[in-house]
Amino acid sequence: MSGTDILKQVEASLPSKAEVTESRFEGASVAVFSKNLKFVMEAPEYLREVAKNMKLRVEARADKSLLVTPEEAQEKISRLIGEAGITDIFFDTHRSRVIVEVEKPSLVLGPRGTGYGKVNEIKEKTGWTPVIQRKPPLKSDIITTIRKILTKNSKDRADFLHKVGMRIYAEGKEPKWIRASFLGASREVGRSAVLVQTPESRVLLDCGINVAASGEDAFPVLDTPEFRIDRLDAVVLSHAHLDHCGFVPFLYKYGFEGPVYCSRPTLPLSTLLQLDALEVAQREGKTIPYSSKDIEAAVLHTIATPEEEVTNITPDVRLTLYNAGHMLGSNIVHLHVGEGFYNLVYTGDFKYGPSRLHDPAHNQFLRVEGVIMESTYGGRDNLQVSRADAEDQLLDAVKEVAGKGGKMLIPVLGAGRAQEVMLIIEAAVREGRLPEMPIYVDGIVWDATAIYTTYPEFLHKSIRRAVFSHEANPLLNPIFRRVGGQKEREEMMAKDESCIIMATSGMLTGGPSVFYFSHMATNPNNAVAFVNYQAEGTLGRRVMRQPKDIILSTRNSARAVMPLNAKIYSVQGFSGHSDHKQIMAYLNNMTPRPNNVMVVHGEASKALELATKIRTTMRIHAKAPLLLEAIRLK
Ligand SMILES: [Zn+2]
Repeated sequence: MSGTDILKQVEASLPSKAEVTESRFEGASVAVFSKNLKFVMEAPEYLREVAKNMKLRVEARADKSLLVTPEEAQEKISRLIGEAGITDIFFDTHRSRVIVEVEKPSLVLGPRGTGYGKVNEIKEKTGWTPVIQRKPPLKSDIITTIRKILTKNSKDRADFLHKVGMRIYAEGKEPKWIRASFLGASREVGRSAVLVQTPESRVLLDCGINVAASGEDAFPVLDTPEFRIDRLDAVVLSHAHLDHCGFVPFLYKYGFEGPVYCSRPTLPLSTLLQLDALEVAQREGKTIPYSSKDIEAAVLHTIATPEEEVTNITPDVRLTLYNAGHMLGSNIVHLHVGEGFYNLVYTGDFKYGPSRLHDPAHNQFLRVEGVIMESTYGGRDNLQVSRADAEDQLLDAVKEVAGKGGKMLIPVLGAGRAQEVMLIIEAAVREGRLPEMPIYVDGIVWDATAIYTTYPEFLHKSIRRAVFSHEANPLLNPIFRRVGGQKEREEMMAKDESCIIMATSGMLTGGPSVFYFSHMATNPNNAVAFVNYQAEGTLGRRVMRQPKDIILSTRNSARAVMPLNAKIYSVQGFSGHSDHKQIMAYLNNMTPRPNNVMVVHGEASKALELATKIRTTMRIHAKAPLLLEAIRLK
């Protein structure tokens, strides 16, 4: 059945009083617009049946002739749910939706999102279907900007979503083969990109850059015969780190018009990190082959996808996202191809172990045959110390620096370890295990934290409990101070005070962490604590080896040599990645047991070691594919 037939059948299955004026796809689901408000209110009753029979999500909305003006709607909505603290209202005109940002969504939706009373009342009194969203507890320009882009382009967005639906429900044949081409992250960390093809579909899993590489090695290999941008159906992002999403805007620059699927938090986080990468590159005279316009195009084409819900993304591919435990909104990607023809799990980056921020990665599936798996810490000797030991190491280091009156720099990726380390420090200060001292959180880390606090439902169950019972999110503790700009940074460096500074980039490849480092390196009272992976070729990796002198290349490629006197710590235990043991445990405990493992996203020796270990101990076919290798999965 084609898309047009599906829409016809949905309309035909509704009673005549539905007075449908139009029905349209919104991605994989359908919206029917009705001239009868009473029917819109009663619709869930009818639509449940339709959804069950046709395996399709259908929603009824009011035809635009029934909508009150935005001014009137705003006034009525304020009257109805003002107590929830309305902070912003956006009208998505072409979809008859109004996005209402409130301080306390639970007052409108009920504690578990079940209280539809007020939502229905708004619909009944205004015609508009309300979408209630949480106001970011810390101001987030990115979230506001994204909402504006989506509502300003309401018509384009609606047309795009319809086009996506028509493609998903195009008639296709049952697949006879499936293959995966490795366009990046093969025996290296960075530029993740795997093209999954069937006779019917082409889906790209991640599209990242290698922040540590230069020239064409920094990007996935897209000039290969099997990759054609005009035939690409969809991109699925595992998470927002640039080595997984940093090349997505490039696709739009060169004509991609299809969707990007990812979790709700991944959209603002990836946008934030892409914009930051662009800004850092411009400041440092490097080039990134896309502009902010292309990032905006990516936003307009992104479909935020709920976790653990099956979504059709092409005629023969169904997507389900599961928690990966690596960062906010990070996902294990499950693709179900055909009607039980093949099931592929792509882990992205994942943590199968304890952390303060997230629950461990999901590994229970209905079906799995193939697994594409990361191996950042996959080598046999990559064994992380226990969480408790790692936390002690970090806190001891901070205490030592504080004792000497020095400053402690913690280079972090904007999102992920930064917030994990914030939680460790917050708990230590609260429990009196650390002396009070200023904790500076630099620009983008702060912006990312604002996004973290907007989506508490994606955080560890203990934080969820804290937030939903007494609204106390530890990330909002006032001990954290925001650094807004360069002037403040210079003042901090000039001041004789002991402090902790958390700044990007995490591998000292650019951004404020390099500025701080260049001001702190010569003083033996200062220290640098690395908490995440340092890629070969980065300043971070060189510093970690603790040479006597360090060479810094500055903006105009001039080079400065300075003695490295600051103490260097490398604390491995709270990586967002699984260590060797955790990777093996993840695979060992996976249900059902897969029969083919492809190891990616690890240095050659680690990827190869891990593949060998899987083959020999688990007797599962495993290999570390080369760049541009294509594997027929079935
Ligand atoms: Zn990552």
